[in-house]
Amino acid sequence: APLVLWFRRDLRLGDHPMLARAVASGRPLVPLFILDPETEALGAAAKWRLGLSLADFARRLEGLGSRLILRRGPALAVLEQVLAETGAMGVHWSRLYDAGSIARDGAVKAALRARGLEAVSHEGFLLHEPWQVATGQGGFYRVYTPYWNAVKGRDVAAPEPAPKRLSGPAVWPQSDVLADWQMGAAMRRGAGVCLPFQVVGEDAAQARLAAFLETRVQDYKAARDFPARDATSRLSENLTYGEIGPRSIWHGGWRAMQDGAAGAEHFLKELVWREFAWHLMYHTPHMAEANWREDWQGFPWREDNADAEAWRRGMTGEPFVDAAMREMYVTGTMHNRARMIVASYLTKHLMTDWRVGLRWFADCLTDWDAAANAMGWQWVAGCGPDAAPYFRVFNPAGQAEKFDADGAYRKRFLDPRSPEARRYFEAVPLSWQLAPDQPAPRPLIALDRGRERALAAYAARKS
Ligand code: FAD
Repeated sequence: APLVLWFRRDLRLGDHPMLARAVASGRPLVPLFILDPETEALGAAAKWRLGLSLADFARRLEGLGSRLILRRGPALAVLEQVLAETGAMGVHWSRLYDAGSIARDGAVKAALRARGLEAVSHEGFLLHEPWQVATGQGGFYRVYTPYWNAVKGRDVAAPEPAPKRLSGPAVWPQSDVLADWQMGAAMRRGAGVCLPFQVVGEDAAQARLAAFLETRVQDYKAARDFPARDATSRLSENLTYGEIGPRSIWHGGWRAMQDGAAGAEHFLKELVWREFAWHLMYHTPHMAEANWREDWQGFPWREDNADAEAWRRGMTGEPFVDAAMREMYVTGTMHNRARMIVASYLTKHLMTDWRVGLRWFADCLTDWDAAANAMGWQWVAGCGPDAAPYFRVFNPAGQAEKFDADGAYRKRFLDPRSPEARRYFEAVPLSWQLAPDQPAPRPLIALDRGRERALAAYAARKS
């Protein structure tokens, strides 16, 4: 009998434990993607970008003589229908680790097994399952460096090669048409804005990794902090949808390290930050939306407010912050250094709840990742695990001097005379007044005044 393969964030053929095992079983395979309520609720840019990924993955499956069946509805109900239609006796999938996915997948597993059907989950989204990395006392890690020390020497299974052909059922079930799903409908900003910046699909992701390991990895450690430089791998976008697996990246980085590439170990360490984020998300799921540290409950964050709206629109009057917010809005990504600076500015200078920022990132980022995003915000805000102390207030002007000394990054998004800026803003809806020819706004707050206000609130909380 056929086997249903329920794809979610693993839209690739190689480095895929679930797919490799399914192919080895010799059974006819029915690849399925379900637009369930959880997926419907994705942020605008992430949902749109997922649509691109699905289109690419469907083409790749067709190249192997298979198909991607698209269905919409609650996961369990859809799976039951597809099982009935195809006569399949089982469903396999790659595990996810956020509370919502765990609850959904657990319910699916219980319901199918109660009916005598096969329901099996597999690894593949992470290098290490969150429960397989434990401290000497058997608990989970709360601090990154000991986590890194625990995993850096571990064996990571070699990625499986992509199958050459997939056998299908005698009769394929019905599929929705991807275009009908309108995955870009919430992109009020217009998909044309982001499109030139996306690198979509498994082949492109592998090429991106190879190009990074060929050249940029050498300088990675020193250059990765400069937002105007193209010095990082940019693989977060591909990892999020599973267009590439972490084991491919780990092995590539490891080989580069053995070949003497200077930045390779640092690159592996960054990849392990992603692991650590999911380790935390699994063991402390409240990280997604509550202050991770309990003694932060009741901190007087401001709710959403007019200053936060200026922040979203890149109109704070703080050039580095505004450049970064515009970068995210028009490209779907933001440099890591800039993410830290805009997050610090919102939570400290503007005293605004980190969740206001987290939600905007979730709406704008094409690499949105529930764990990395929540960990990043809580790290900057000071209420997270292994967090920067709250009194460490980034000074955006000082940061700009240090990491964007020639102003190239700010010019790219703020200077009306720069041809580069024009390229970025050609398609941006004018109602947002993001175009660089808008007059520069006055700063919302003087930097030292904002810093003092944040520190005073912090001191009051402690006493
Ligand atoms: P590289 O420098 O090439 O690093 C390689 C890989 O390591 C990345 O692709 C990513 O998977 C992982 N990685 C690197 N840095 C981090 C980090 N700090 N935390 C977790 N994983 C990391 N990353 C996301 O993928 N999605 C998010 O939604 C996200 N939100 C963030 C929000 C804030 C406030 C902050 C401070 C950081 C956030 N990050 C997020 C982490 C980081 O900014 C991005 O992973 C990074 O910029 C991606 O660029 P890259 O692929 O070129 O990274």
